[in-house]
Amino acid sequence: MLPASSTPLMLRHDADLTPFNTLALPARARMLAHIRSADDARRLAGDAALRGERRFVLGGGSNLVLDGDFDGLVLKAEIAGRALVAEEDGYRVVAAGAGEIWHDFVQWTLTQGWPGLENLSLIPGTVGAAPIQNIGAYGLELAERFHSLTAIDLGSGETKTLDLAACRFGYRDSVFKQEGWHRDGRMLVSEVRFRLPLRWQPNTRYADVAGELAARGIAEPTPRAVADAVIAVRQRKLPDPAVLPNAGSFFQNPVVDAATAASLAAAHPALPRYAQADGRVKLAAGWLIEAAGWKGRSLGPVGMYEKQALVLVNRGAARGGDVRALAAAVQADVAARFGVTLVPEPIYLCVA
Ligand code: NAP
Repeated sequence: MLPASSTPLMLRHDADLTPFNTLALPARARMLAHIRSADDARRLAGDAALRGERRFVLGGGSNLVLDGDFDGLVLKAEIAGRALVAEEDGYRVVAAGAGEIWHDFVQWTLTQGWPGLENLSLIPGTVGAAPIQNIGAYGLELAERFHSLTAIDLGSGETKTLDLAACRFGYRDSVFKQEGWHRDGRMLVSEVRFRLPLRWQPNTRYADVAGELAARGIAEPTPRAVADAVIAVRQRKLPDPAVLPNAGSFFQNPVVDAATAASLAAAHPALPRYAQADGRVKLAAGWLIEAAGWKGRSLGPVGMYEKQALVLVNRGAARGGDVRALAAAVQADVAARFGVTLVPEPIYLCVA
């Protein structure tokens, strides 16, 4: 367990959520609680005055569409802490508090000489949010480095430990999304434990990472070199939310059956396709959006980014409705052209 702080619970009324979402959408919450320890979450769960309130758990706000004001209680997970917990069966078990910034935590593990998370460098958001959608990039998913997590049941105040099987991870998916625990504010992740291999192998199978390492003349990369390559590729292709507000990839890559993939490939030979272990085929959503004419195109104050069509950007003063309208237009055009349904990756938090 990471050390638990016992600070007074910070609860604000009529709080501005604009600084807490990377799309910079304006919204207010009737109440906002800054959760800085597992105890804070337990105390809040036991508070009779707050029973029955609509709740939402907020991490880094980097995978969120705020669609109006929230008439309820937002719990912002800000629990800090990082520690080596154990070494067992060829792995290091490393724990981090839910409020740790994901990228800073990854860089810290590398500085300690504990590789394994380098392909996930520069992903926005917090440690606690990472398991919710099983973050992944450049050929690595969080599930592959996951040990367990601790969550507080905000109804009963109980502390629960979920192992790999209990998290039911899938492609950008977990039990938290499947059961709506996160969206409905049922569970707050307080701590995540990672399983980092003692015997490390570089994972450079994604062309962008391999290309970046080759361009730097690195044939046998260290974990730091892989991290630096990933960071360089991401900085080239993805907008910095502090400069151009966005929520990363806006749509999931669709996974279709083999027959659908074959007929799409016959009609569109350039469509990137990646065979999955279960026989289905993953398509690149960014390619579909670009082919449907949306790369660099705007609708009102929002648009699909010119260097990466999968990223929806706020070009200024957008509201949740603008995001919804653009997402629907892109979905409609991709469906009409390819017969493929695009599913948004971010969570929509709607007006009560
Ligand atoms: P990319 O390299 O241009 O490739 C397009 C898509 O094809 C990716 O989404 C990726 O799927 C898939 N792909 C590429 N090479 C693959 C391979 N060797 N094996 C299997 N699938 C392959 O993609 P990108 O948009 O620049 O993104 C690079 C990586 O960062 C991807 O893994 C992407 O998921 C991740 N990323 C995630 C977010 C987010 O917000 N969730 C934002 C930006 C980037 P996968 O997505 O399944 O890897």
